[in-house]
Amino acid sequence: MGSQEKVYKNAVEIAKVLCEQKLHYGDIAIDCTMGNGNDTAFLCELVGDSGKVYAFDIQETAIENTRRLLSDYNLLERAELILDGHQNVDKYVTSKVKFVIFNLGYLPKGDHRVVTKTETTLPAIEKCLNLLQKNGVIILVLYPGHESGTEEKKNIVEYVSNLPQKEYSVSHLHFLNQINNPPELVCIEKVKD
Ligand code: SAH
Repeated sequence: MGSQEKVYKNAVEIAKVLCEQKLHYGDIAIDCTMGNGNDTAFLCELVGDSGKVYAFDIQETAIENTRRLLSDYNLLERAELILDGHQNVDKYVTSKVKFVIFNLGYLPKGDHRVVTKTETTLPAIEKCLNLLQKNGVIILVLYPGHESGTEEKKNIVEYVSNLPQKEYSVSHLHFLNQINNPPELVCIEKVKD
């Protein structure tokens, strides 16, 4: 568990603390943007050997890098790595899940043209809301620092702001005094089935 200092450092670190708080042994989680697999590995550790993590990416290199990372840490058995868009999540995940994370944007050291987009991100969020168990959480890390990320953030914030309060508790954290539009965090908790 991180110290206070770590909690408020940036959106990515806060997301990790929320994962640690929420996920327990035996839980089911989804990583909607696998990338190089760091979040997938983190989730696999938290759910333990009786849990399961579904991870999605549209790039083959993401699957390869994640498979290597998980296998190095002996975590591969807890994960299902899926080469498909997160907008198709309901084709692969049928059980209710405790936790979903989207780390949006592009891979920093990868192809910057492959970036998450509103037209697929929003349907994916909607499908994940339906898969979420009561008290389950969806975390979105938004990257408004680049042009398409600004647009995506605007659309996501508008969409989640309109979710019914009786069913979902929705919060949005952004740093107010930092340059270059750093990552922001949206947290959706299902409060009623
Ligand atoms: N911005 C983050 C990393 C984001 S990685 C950071 O700075 O750490 C985002 C990943 O989402 C990329 O690997 C990309 O291939 C993947 N992606 C893009 N569109 C997707 C989709 N529709 N479904 C699943 N993954 C997608």
